[in-house]
Amino acid sequence: MNDTEMKNKLRPKFWEQLPIEQLNKEEWEALCDGCGKCCLHKLEDEETGSIEYTKISCRLLDDHSCKCGQYSIRKNFVPDCVVLSPANIKKVAYWMPDTCAYRLLYERKPLFDWHPLISGSPESIHDAGISVRGMCVPEFEIPEDEWEDYIIDDFRS
Ligand code: SF4
Ligand code: SF4
Repeated sequence: MNDTEMKNKLRPKFWEQLPIEQLNKEEWEALCDGCGKCCLHKLEDEETGSIEYTKISCRLLDDHSCKCGQYSIRKNFVPDCVVLSPANIKKVAYWMPDTCAYRLLYERKPLFDWHPLISGSPESIHDAGISVRGMCVPEFEIPEDEWEDYIIDDFRS
């Protein structure tokens, strides 16, 4: 399916008009703002359960486009990559970034103006400084026991 065919499947302002359970596959995919934040490694505090984001990126994340380099077959390389769906958003929303469109809709909040669905441009998220463009460190460069040194303060919003 090309971009035009995909766009034709998007109903007007679906993100405001429809509950997430009623979105079609193309609308669900279009909801992703392309920030890449969810592809950063996270550390969980075993005592408190709190989640901290690090600058360490998944081996498949492209640091410039902020997209997965092998999206359709990513599970072959990263088996624990979470495939978001209306069925599991309730379970995973708590560790998604506060700006994530899936989390926002799940929490019945509006999308931000920089979301490509509103701005009309996939570059707006980068221009607004919300994406991870240019700020990641690939996971193979840093030993896992040093990831704690790369925690990002207050990054999720
Ligand atoms: S955090 Fe949410 S909106 Fe951003 S890339 Fe991940 S799934 Fe898409
Ligand atoms: S496999 Fe792809 S989608 Fe999954 S975390 Fe890595 S870069 Fe992101």
